[in-house]
Amino acid sequence: RAKLMRYAGAATAGTVAYMGYHVYNAVALPGQKQADPSKPHLVIVGSGWGSVATLKTLDFSKYNVTVISSRNYFLFTPLLPSTATGLIEQRSIMEPTRAILRKKTHSSTFVEGEVIDVDPFKKTVTVSTKANSYKELGVGLPAVTQEIPYDKLIMGVGSTTNTFGIKGVSDYALFMKEVEDSIAVRKRIMDCMEAASTPGLDPETRRRLMHTVIVGAGPTGVECAGEIHDFVQKDMAKFNPEVVKDFKVSLLEVQPNILAAGFNQTLVDYATETLKRESVDIMTKTMVTGADAEKVYATRTLADGTKENVEFPYGLFIWAGGIGLRPVVKNLFAKIPEQNESRRGLRVDEHLRVIGADDFWALGDCADAKLAPTAQVASQEGAYLGKLLGEVAKLDDLKLERSKETDAGKIAKLDSQIHRAEILPKFEYAHQGSLAYIGDDRAVADITWFGKQYSSSGFLTYIFWRSAYLSMVFSFRNKFLVAMDWTKAIVFGRDLSRE
Ligand code: FAD
Repeated sequence: RAKLMRYAGAATAGTVAYMGYHVYNAVALPGQKQADPSKPHLVIVGSGWGSVATLKTLDFSKYNVTVISSRNYFLFTPLLPSTATGLIEQRSIMEPTRAILRKKTHSSTFVEGEVIDVDPFKKTVTVSTKANSYKELGVGLPAVTQEIPYDKLIMGVGSTTNTFGIKGVSDYALFMKEVEDSIAVRKRIMDCMEAASTPGLDPETRRRLMHTVIVGAGPTGVECAGEIHDFVQKDMAKFNPEVVKDFKVSLLEVQPNILAAGFNQTLVDYATETLKRESVDIMTKTMVTGADAEKVYATRTLADGTKENVEFPYGLFIWAGGIGLRPVVKNLFAKIPEQNESRRGLRVDEHLRVIGADDFWALGDCADAKLAPTAQVASQEGAYLGKLLGEVAKLDDLKLERSKETDAGKIAKLDSQIHRAEILPKFEYAHQGSLAYIGDDRAVADITWFGKQYSSSGFLTYIFWRSAYLSMVFSFRNKFLVAMDWTKAIVFGRDLSRE
């Protein structure tokens, strides 16, 4: 009888899970109407913070939407440093663009490719799609370049890593911008650990291999230092204590302080002290001048103002020293006369319209709205643009109706409606604060809450950091995966195997 009860219990659980799965699918994947080809063609370039926020608030019934992006997923960048040490798996912070589009009321087109040119006067974008070659299946598709016309364009191509042309940096540094970067860093950490464990290795080489040099002490550089420290001290130390004795991180920063933007001095001091305790050597006022396969070269300004040359032998060298513009954006500076003097990004007005071009908006890191290049800014701009494009569609509909109307009374009514609709809301940024993980289960936070500024640091802030990021991660699926990864790391530790 007990056996029967167990079978019945298992069968009930199975049925509930099966039904739950179908309910979830019905909610997650609602029916979709076909896009109306007669509607204006809206092209959105990019699938990052800005563009995806636009997709969230955009009314897809108003446009025939095409999304073009060089990667077919959204990446939750704030947790990228955690993936480099295996705390979180890379795929847990990636959300496929097609899954995002599938949840909308109307179907749309996704093209995986790189926009290599924009003609804002002819209203076309030139896209280069990747070559898909499945030779073993007998299917081969060459790379194609094609021109796609648009009625409205939103540009959200983000930024690149900027090495400022410093000799050797692009050849020898690893970066922390894309998923491939984090995979490369994870592999290099393992390579260094195993190479440093080689029997008979001279102590100097071992010290070099166990030395991580991070350039740029903004939130990304600081979080990388904290995550690598945790990985080495909490996990590597259990299995390979010998090499861990030689572990050291040097954090180089040209400014006089770490976390120069977004955090108050008390938090900066707290972060500095915490990192020092974690064997992170903080070298401020230190400018990198070059790098080769084994050393990073820098000039350091001392307290009395004199300068000294310093060398940092390394096993792992991470460059988090700044961002730059993508070529497609630089080309637009040359093409649009009003943008000839632009430097930081496409200059936009208070409606995020690209100055000097019609029906063209830009957002995020590639736009210059006189705001910091952050996910927070990009996502607020994106949410605003999604709604704004709805208002623009209403205005266009009214203008079309007006052009066809012959009745004088109706024309007057339409004119006043158009007049009202032309007053579009302006973009206003609301800063919600800054957060950074500094290692050893501690974080710093400068938060704006109901217009007031609050600062906090330590373990509780770290719990807040985790819950804030978990709530911000894009989908339920990603939230679940990130929570599972954190739990897995607490129970089993991070994985030390080398791929
Ligand atoms: P992105 O999110 O970079 O997206 C750009 C998109 O355009 C991508 O999909 C890309 O594939 C696509 N693309 C690029 N070129 C082309 C092309 N030529 N054609 C077609 N598609 C193209 N900000 C915060 O506010 N808080 C944080 O904690 C934080 N942490 C960060 C941690 C890391 C490691 C990094 C790298 C950044 C962090 N940022 C953070 C900054 C934040 O990620 C960026 O400001 C934000 O991603 C900018 O959004 P975006 O939409 O402009 O560009």
